[in-house]
Amino acid sequence: MKTTRRQFLLAAGLLPLLGTSRAASRRVIVVGGGWGGLSTARHLRALAPDLEVVLIDRQPAFVSFALSNRWLVDVGAPAPERHEYASLAARWGYRFVQADVSAIDRAAGFVVAGNERLAYDWLVIAPGIRENYAAWQVEDPALVAELRRRYSGAMLNGADLVSLKQRLAGFKGGDLLMNIPPAPYRCPPAPYERAMLIAWWLKTQKIPGKLIIADPNPMMPAFRSILLDRFKDQITYLDHAKIRQIDPVRKAVSTDIDDIRFDAALLSPPQQAADLIWQAGLIRTEEGGQPSGWAAQGAVDFRSPVDERVFIIGDATGMVSPAFGLYPKTGHVANRMGLAVAQQIAAQATGRAFPSLLPESVCHVLSSIEPDEQTRIDTSYRQRGDGFLLQQVKQTKNPNPAGEDVAWAEAMYRDFLRD
Ligand SMILES: Cc1cc2nc3c(=O)[nH]c(=O)nc-3n(C[C@H](O)[C@H](O)[C@H](O)COP(=O)(O)OP(=O)(O)OC[C@H]3O[C@@H](n4cnc5c(N)ncnc54)[C@H](O)[C@@H]3O)c2cc1C
Repeated sequence: MKTTRRQFLLAAGLLPLLGTSRAASRRVIVVGGGWGGLSTARHLRALAPDLEVVLIDRQPAFVSFALSNRWLVDVGAPAPERHEYASLAARWGYRFVQADVSAIDRAAGFVVAGNERLAYDWLVIAPGIRENYAAWQVEDPALVAELRRRYSGAMLNGADLVSLKQRLAGFKGGDLLMNIPPAPYRCPPAPYERAMLIAWWLKTQKIPGKLIIADPNPMMPAFRSILLDRFKDQITYLDHAKIRQIDPVRKAVSTDIDDIRFDAALLSPPQQAADLIWQAGLIRTEEGGQPSGWAAQGAVDFRSPVDERVFIIGDATGMVSPAFGLYPKTGHVANRMGLAVAQQIAAQATGRAFPSLLPESVCHVLSSIEPDEQTRIDTSYRQRGDGFLLQQVKQTKNPNPAGEDVAWAEAMYRDFLRD
């Protein structure tokens, strides 16, 4: 493999190391400016103002996925929230560096961000997910980029939502394939809500098309009757349909049962922790020695088991309890993890004590349209005396929604985006 100039400089110890000559203030580096990283950075500035906080993201701006499904088909929702990191950094008092973090040297305590080495006292890694095209037998990066451009289901970056909306607007008929990724994946109800809205849109716009849903998981009960009965003329639902391969020339995917042809598609490959977690050797290994695909971190403190200065939060996190597996991959959970980690670092830096904080999640999902109905999903946690973590999930139907989803999003955004 060809060595890049940056890899050569890194190996030779020639990249500038920023931070070695800095004054007494200690530095926290947060990699990833999503729901988790932004929450950590904002709360750390408030809880421990003497710490220097540096947020690094490869993108220039945060774009939220919340409420985006309705906006995709123009059902009374505004465009997804977009916030430039430079403005957020100025508002909350942290420093923003736009760069790709390509390596972490835990022994020496620095990250490689673009052409800089940045030293840290604490490191919070919140890089989200990657999509594993290799599971569909696609390894060539150029082909991955082409598949993403033509067929992405836009579950990786909020910035991809604009092109997905344009592709949907250009769909004039035929077979529109949408797959649900195998669990665990981010925001479990989101693909079903999206499918319901696309079916409604095909029906009301009288588009002569069929939405084919390939689902390897059990369908969420709240959507069963609406997807299978109410929109049966618009939807073909294929259960036990796990995609194994994609043939972009033939415009077809193969499952264990049969091949599915499509004219247009919203494809979402299996999800895993983002590349950085793999590069830093922080993936949890299964009992058989196989990588689990998700990070190893504490269930409640989110600390790496191999380095107490390193925390991993958000969708990249892995197994936390034999009772239920992983935390749900939601922005709400990532936000609570961000606050919990900010409190732990502030406690170490200032000596102030904070009560321990477990994640929680509230999700308002549109489970019917015309008439509108929402389902509220509350997920909460408690620790037994022996430390064993238990999860409770409560689903409540709301037949008369009055903007509860918008109010929830607004409350979340006030926590880490707005003054
Ligand atoms: C369609 C859809 C709808 C959703 N709706 C909701 C909802 O209503 N409510 C809810 O709670 N959740 C919702 N979610 C889930 C929510 O968006 C995710 O759970 C959340 O984004 C996870 O936050 P995170 O901080 O872990 O990762 P992300 O938000 O993905 O942020 C990760 C950041 O890290 C950066 N990054 C990664 N690697 C590097 C690197 N090496 N160097 C530099 N930067 C890097 C990325 O650019 C990115 O900005 C939805 C998701 C989808 C797909």
